[in-house]
Amino acid sequence: MIGSVLVPLAIVLATAVAMELAAAWIHEHVMHGWGWGWHRSHHEETEGHFERNDLYAVLFAVVAVALFAVGSLWWEPVWWMGVGLCFYGVIYFFVHDGLVHQRWPFRHVPKRGYLRRLYQAHRLHHAVETREGAVSFGFVFAPPVATLRAQLRENLRAREAAE
Ligand SMILES: [Zn+2]
Ligand SMILES: [Zn+2]
Repeated sequence: MIGSVLVPLAIVLATAVAMELAAAWIHEHVMHGWGWGWHRSHHEETEGHFERNDLYAVLFAVVAVALFAVGSLWWEPVWWMGVGLCFYGVIYFFVHDGLVHQRWPFRHVPKRGYLRRLYQAHRLHHAVETREGAVSFGFVFAPPVATLRAQLRENLRAREAAE
């Protein structure tokens, strides 16, 4: 039955898209808000392989385990949401930890195309080391670099005016 493939596939893709929206929102309003205590480590130089910010990844892993548990015990679609969450996790790791922060044992910086834009967008997110004034909170969706640069300048100006 084609439906037995398409429905799970749709759930996985929808969950991954929803996760990007949720992650961007959480990044902007929680991690750069009351959750800054964990996230700060990611905007500063840190020693060693891990940083406090990695606890957020652990938190999402716990959510995935919970979805798998609920899905296998009560309602199968939730299990596929767990798959979608893991799928997003893999993309996030590849783009954010890999391409942008080079936390893998080789060096590869994208030179062109959408991955380049993604790389630059997140680099611009890291142009700011403080809780406020940052731009580009998504990880997979990246606005054009020129837009982000203008936004960054605007934020800086606003901050200088406030001081
Ligand atoms: Zn951040
Ligand atoms: Zn980052």
